[in-house]
Amino acid sequence: IFKDYVSGFLKESDMQVINGTLKLKLPEGSNGIVVKNLCLSCDPYMRNRMTRAEGPNLFTSFTPSSPLTGFGVAKVLDSRHPNFKKGDLIWGTTGWEEYSVITELEGLFKIQHTDVPLSYYTGILGMPGLSAYVGFYEVCSPKEGEYVFISAASGAVGQLVGQFAKLMGCYVVGSAGSKEKLSNFYLAYFKIKHYLFFVDLLKRKFGFDDAFNYKEETDLDAALKRYFPEGIDIYFENVGGKMLDAVLLNMKDHGRISVCGLVSQYNLDQPEGVQNLMCLIYKRIHMKGFVVSDYYNIYPKFLDVMLPYIREGKIMYVEDIAEGLESGPATLAGLYSGRNVGKQVVLIARE
Ligand code: NDP
Repeated sequence: IFKDYVSGFLKESDMQVINGTLKLKLPEGSNGIVVKNLCLSCDPYMRNRMTRAEGPNLFTSFTPSSPLTGFGVAKVLDSRHPNFKKGDLIWGTTGWEEYSVITELEGLFKIQHTDVPLSYYTGILGMPGLSAYVGFYEVCSPKEGEYVFISAASGAVGQLVGQFAKLMGCYVVGSAGSKEKLSNFYLAYFKIKHYLFFVDLLKRKFGFDDAFNYKEETDLDAALKRYFPEGIDIYFENVGGKMLDAVLLNMKDHGRISVCGLVSQYNLDQPEGVQNLMCLIYKRIHMKGFVVSDYYNIYPKFLDVMLPYIREGKIMYVEDIAEGLESGPATLAGLYSGRNVGKQVVLIARE
């Protein structure tokens, strides 16, 4: 349950797990479906839905004292819609609950390929995967040999962008952070472990050319100059804030910036300003934002590309799976401190 509108950083206590009885009955005249939810997707934009929407907004706010909604994978138990039948598997918007009655079916996709893990439809084969695909290929127009930088590089979207760029023959560097808020001893131990793991993940598993921990860099501009002495052709923006400012200083002339997300700003009541926007002019940079749902029409083409990549092992995907609906609040809040390693999923039921 989403308790009430949130100010500042999202906390586990802003949500609540309750036991209750759901009426699994479709309203009279509705052509909706009843589903059993299998996995839920933790996505950074959910924090934006926890603020009261003022003026034009891409997202509708969550309703206080009601279940959260978000992307998920579910099994159809009952249907009054001709496109869905009992037993079908679907992905799209559902409730953060064990069972849901879905009356808004636009943006629901029937799952046709089950030789891959079902949770992939919350990540590599779902909304984040399509975001990586359109944000890189459609927005950046990449070319072989270009220099690519990705922030939040080990996450649901970033890990794919890096692999797409490597398949294209680009030079790829990613940044990611490590965990905080642990005891000193554990922190020291964990930092080392996490750092090794993260470099391993980005470099060995995903094939990045290099990677760095942005939380260990006091000067992001200097760090980027170290990794990109000749400058950056393509920046895939997931975080915004100080990183964007440092990147602007390090872009090449005619570079491209794909603005996928600004996660560093989502929990701030006052977003940070960007200081170096003049670089857009001096360097003739093309910077473009996009919304993945505008590209749902190319989803079948995207699947045709991605499924062979997965089956042939050309693209890897790392997930961070939390078990049980009761783990939902802490898991979702953890996205904003970088607790997740890979795509964050909450598994509710296996079938
Ligand atoms: P991730 O799986 O990467 O999870 C979020 C990650 O962001 C965290 O693990 C953490 O990684 C990083 N992060 C969190 N807080 C901060 C902060 N204050 N400063 C810097 N980094 C932070 O998320 P996704 O891959 O699902 O999403 C990536 C971005 O893409 C988000 O901004 C999201 O909103 C956006 N998005 C946009 C879409 C669109 O249509 N435009 C569609 C889908 C996603 P770490 O700190 O370890 O790097």
